[in-house]
Amino acid sequence: RIAHMDVSSTERPDPGPPRPRSVGPVSVNADTHAGARTWQSLPAAQQPEWPDPEALRDVVAELASYPPLVFAGECDQLRNHMAAVAEGKAFLLQGGDCAEAFDAVGADQIRNKLKTLLQMGAVLTYAASVPVVKVGRIAGQYSKPRSKPTETRDGVTLPTYRGDSVNGFEFTAEARIPDPQRLKRMYHASASTLNLVRAFTTGGYADLRQVHAWNQDFVKSSPSGQRYEALAREIDSALNFMAACGTDPAEFRTVEFYASHEALLLDYETALTRVDSRTGTLYDVSGHMVWIGERTRQLDGAHIEFASKIGNPLGVKLGPNTTPEEAMTYVERLDPDRTPGRLTFIVRMGADQVRDKLPTLVEKVTASGARVAWVCDPMHGNTFEAASGHKTRRFDDVLDEVKGFFEVHHALGTHPGGIHVELTGDDVTECVGGGDEIFVDDLHQRYETACDPRLNRSQSLDLAFLVAEMYRG
Ligand code: PEP
Ligand code: MN
Repeated sequence: RIAHMDVSSTERPDPGPPRPRSVGPVSVNADTHAGARTWQSLPAAQQPEWPDPEALRDVVAELASYPPLVFAGECDQLRNHMAAVAEGKAFLLQGGDCAEAFDAVGADQIRNKLKTLLQMGAVLTYAASVPVVKVGRIAGQYSKPRSKPTETRDGVTLPTYRGDSVNGFEFTAEARIPDPQRLKRMYHASASTLNLVRAFTTGGYADLRQVHAWNQDFVKSSPSGQRYEALAREIDSALNFMAACGTDPAEFRTVEFYASHEALLLDYETALTRVDSRTGTLYDVSGHMVWIGERTRQLDGAHIEFASKIGNPLGVKLGPNTTPEEAMTYVERLDPDRTPGRLTFIVRMGADQVRDKLPTLVEKVTASGARVAWVCDPMHGNTFEAASGHKTRRFDDVLDEVKGFFEVHHALGTHPGGIHVELTGDDVTECVGGGDEIFVDDLHQRYETACDPRLNRSQSLDLAFLVAEMYRG
């Protein structure tokens, strides 16, 4: 082989004079994106201070030439599923890391996360008898809004970590400099994650007959694993019964699984926003669903403007200070046509406030005739710092917020549409409590999150069982 190789063909031609840095994709795609760039004249909160704007422009131009990560038709499918959630006919399970990390894009970690979500989905579907829409905080959750722009340790103050898409987690001046090249790594990390997720969910791994296999490494070590095993046996006998009756539905062989993340870095999201050839409208093809976070949902700000231009199903996080009038303005801005499934309110009030603050929001929105999906994020209103200095959450607070969320909806006759949780498939020690109890003194053992504390696999399964009970009422 080597003897036949034409060595000369591997030589590069003379490159000639250096080309201007921004030729190519930027001019090709610039017009396509005009409709997605209207946010640029508005204040955009939580954007990194990139040291070299020209380098950022080049990266954005290159990203704009990359293929989409998802297909607009899939976003429409998810919107239809979310319409069922809004109408009370399905339940949303949305979960994954607070912040994904580039060095965690490995088969084991992705599989463990997926397995946990599939197990939770099986528990909710079977125990609550409701179709479950499964959406990961995955394949794009690389950017973080922060409450403070700097971080101080031992008298040293550095820019805060803003997610692997922006700067490094390591506490050094060099790592904390925003580097736009990271946006390209975000794209590639998202692409490989999504590829594996698609392979797992359609290639046999997510087949309902594997309901036991998802639990194999887990069953003996934890009470929730054992509880799950009992439920899996029931699912198995139901499947055997159906097979004996001669039915073997294709729905059991694959799982529809969608990807979501916070649309935070508007340069990245805009570069991934494309005209859908079927409809001529814009979709952000960086993920199926995107949400606007609590810190970037200013009504006159860039994020809401951007969101209003894309056709994806959208989430908006609502904290305890949201007024009913604000909620209605999101409906007007983001769902003017009242498209079922278009808008999801992800409520994160805190266990101590949800019962007081949520009812007026739900009442006002419902009275307007808008049909949004209401989803509970029981994580972000319940964070505190343990004496050890670890940022953590109590499982009981998480559970109590979900309980309050259900109580409010049951009292108003509206639908508690789902949960949005930060979790991982690994046996980390980041949140305290749960059936296989983690104590404050355990936190240091496996505290691995790049940002907020996540439920581990056992706590996630506990939550799924308890939520299924609440759902049944
Ligand atoms: C998050 O989802 O990680 C987050 C930062 O949430 P919120 O915007 O609700 O604070
Ligand atoms: Mn978080």
